[in-house]
Amino acid sequence: MDCDVAVVGCGPVGAFCAKTLADRGFRVIVFEEHKVIGLPKHCSGLIHPRIEDIADMSFEDAVENEIRGAHIFHGDDVIVLHADSCKSLVLDRSVVDRMLAESAEAAGADVRRGEGARTFERRTDGISVNDVKCRILLGADGMRGRVAGSFGLSERGEIIRGLQCNARFTARDRDCVQVYFGGDVAPGFFAWVIPTSEEECRIGLGVNNGSASAYLKKLLQRLGAEPYETFGGGIPIGLRRKSYCERVMLVGDAAMQVKPISGGGVNIGLRCARICADVAARALENDETDEKSLSVYQDLWKKEFGREIRFGMAARRFIYGLDDEKISRILNAPDEELLKKMAMYGDIDHPSRIVEPLAASVALEPGKYAHSRYLALANLVPDALRALLG
Ligand SMILES: Cc1cc2nc3c(=O)[nH]c(=O)nc-3n(C[C@H](O)[C@H](O)[C@H](O)COP(=O)(O)OP(=O)(O)OC[C@H]3O[C@@H](n4cnc5c(N)ncnc54)[C@H](O)[C@@H]3O)c2cc1C
Repeated sequence: MDCDVAVVGCGPVGAFCAKTLADRGFRVIVFEEHKVIGLPKHCSGLIHPRIEDIADMSFEDAVENEIRGAHIFHGDDVIVLHADSCKSLVLDRSVVDRMLAESAEAAGADVRRGEGARTFERRTDGISVNDVKCRILLGADGMRGRVAGSFGLSERGEIIRGLQCNARFTARDRDCVQVYFGGDVAPGFFAWVIPTSEEECRIGLGVNNGSASAYLKKLLQRLGAEPYETFGGGIPIGLRRKSYCERVMLVGDAAMQVKPISGGGVNIGLRCARICADVAARALENDETDEKSLSVYQDLWKKEFGREIRFGMAARRFIYGLDDEKISRILNAPDEELLKKMAMYGDIDHPSRIVEPLAASVALEPGKYAHSRYLALANLVPDALRALLG
């Protein structure tokens, strides 16, 4: 056998799987079709600072900015959320990917740059990838990964087409993202302006319908921003039914481990990479690489993230099912105090966590929230519940 584990894809998730397994003494080979790790870029790099705990390393060299809040726009309505602490880092993803790949190599993994995994063959004692034989294969090869297709694990989720650019543009607040909703701006998703420095931003959007590039052009014109580098990719949305089979596990975007509301997949992918590597290590140690033994991987990652993904999908159905007038009512409802709470509890990795404290506020002081504008909001609750309950 050439190695214990072959990993296809050296994005952040594949690299972190490789590092975690190599750290434990397993022989790991990583196939990456591109010659330079982290390029071409596709991601905005807006990531909760807990990435450093999850990956157990500092990404200081990749930090472009720190975000404390958001200006949220819909038509002429805008709300501003501003927290006292850093809510999100803006990271250069190409640097993050390179650092993770280098840490996998330092742990002993063999990262093969510029070598795409083209052929897969099941054998009695393992799997061949190109001419390499392995005991376990991890598909960390992104949204349209070949591993899923080659092992009968293809599933269709919703795909958001994401497109963005780095641009010369001064944001309203250096430490706030600007988020734009509306069918005329970004149908089925939203647009973003992420400041990377005083005079530069990453400006982009996702759409589930129509041409992303036409909408981006319109947004750049509206803002008066000057783009100089455009990049993008697809964002898979959904809850996978199956992410494993005998000797094979899918992880990261390949397993749709992405937050449906924001499209963020780095932190959740890295957490799932740790779970995946733990399950692979146990399977290798016990020589139990059959489908049943690997199924525990899916039980574990769905236990940790299934609820949040389901919540995100329902919230998406609810938000994008609202007409402009209802969205406007929602944005105009919160007062200063409620906005402060939303800013405080808002967490891009766990959007559902904002619901409980807000519901508690309303329950504790029902008189205060009997104000007519809250009643207007409350009228939307049955619709929201219907969406959340599927
Ligand atoms: C426009 C856009 C903006 C985004 N913004 C954010 C954000 O702000 N925050 C956030 O958390 N997430 C964001 N995401 C999502 C995030 O980029 C992904 O969730 C994350 O990259 C998933 O990591 P991964 O390692 O699973 O897959 P990827 O990063 O896609 O890596 C897969 C790797 O596999 C390689 N590969 C594929 N096939 C093969 C093959 N056959 N052989 C060898 N190599 C192969 C590819 O070259 C690639 O390097 C964004 C995505 C898009 C499209």
